[in-house]
Amino acid sequence: MTAQQFASDNYAGICPAAWEAMRAANEGSAVAYGRDDWTFRAADAMRAVFAHDADVFFVFNGTAANSLALASLCRSYESIIAADVAHIETDECGAPEFFSNGAKLLTVPTEGGKLTPAAIRRIATTRDDIHFPRPAVVTITQPTETGQLYSLEEIRAISAVCRDLGLKLHMDGARFANAVAALGCSPADMTWRAGVDVLCFGGTKGGMAVGEAVVFFDRALSDGFDYRCKQAGQLASKMRFLAAPWAGVLESGAWLDYAGHANAAARRLAEAVAGVPGVETVFPVQANAVFLRMAPEVTAALRGRGWVFYEFIGGAARFMFAWDAEVARVDALAADIAAEARSGAASYRQDRV
Ligand SMILES: *Cc1c(COP(=O)(O)O)cnc(C)c1O
Repeated sequence: MTAQQFASDNYAGICPAAWEAMRAANEGSAVAYGRDDWTFRAADAMRAVFAHDADVFFVFNGTAANSLALASLCRSYESIIAADVAHIETDECGAPEFFSNGAKLLTVPTEGGKLTPAAIRRIATTRDDIHFPRPAVVTITQPTETGQLYSLEEIRAISAVCRDLGLKLHMDGARFANAVAALGCSPADMTWRAGVDVLCFGGTKGGMAVGEAVVFFDRALSDGFDYRCKQAGQLASKMRFLAAPWAGVLESGAWLDYAGHANAAARRLAEAVAGVPGVETVFPVQANAVFLRMAPEVTAALRGRGWVFYEFIGGAARFMFAWDAEVARVDALAADIAAEARSGAASYRQDRV
């Protein structure tokens, strides 16, 4: 077993609540293609968590969840308003455009991925002629790819603009659990009560082997979504194994406990390196991500010490924490960052003497 890394929250294994539910689902046979008791039970658990009679689907991953959800919210000649660093723009290989048969992503320059009502209004109203793809949907990522949160007020303000302009509101919640744990609000308040039409709720980064849920708060929008999933290769025949982990984490409340633990690990690292010379925290640490700007010699030295991390957003080193984050490993990372930053700063000063 190799030492724990914080390169991504999908480096983590399967959490106990999901694992135990999969084991329990493995007893005997069950009806295929989602007509089994585990799938009904998981969907009911989802409806209970959201206190809403939502239509719920389970798919394999986030790219499929986002792409198929967005495709059901717009026509091929329409457009989807998103932040410039949104996962759907930067990390889904054109799948949203592909599954929507060519709907265009309209991206907005942002400070770390947060859309604003003003920016949405501006881009949605710049053109209304036949030559421009008509805006139909806004998508926000909660928490953002940079680990920042939209407050409930911010979500409500965005949905007010959407309603005003006739746009649907989609939420990419690959780390939705981290957002709920961080804000301490109800899942309902963060979604349908704030005007969100469809949520893609991430299971994988929350501790499952595989799987995301697509939650339609407005059932009128889910018409044909089952066919869309099947056509896209997203209908699991042994659906019980995608669904059971959801029942496991939702019914027990583990989904929220794990997310709280991951968020606390991020705060722990951020607090430990605050004030270390040459280490700058780039985005506010509000969920389970920490972005640190350090000199190239320091990041190279950290890699030399065996740490694995990515620098794909704005050149800062990203550390992501999952349900399994080991406190001792977080502290070891913080200590190595501090040691390398201090010795890097010292040698830099010597060079200049
Ligand atoms: C991880 C992630 C997804 C889903 O990615 P898949 O690899 O397709 O499961 C979607 N949105 C965001 C913001 C993510 O971080």
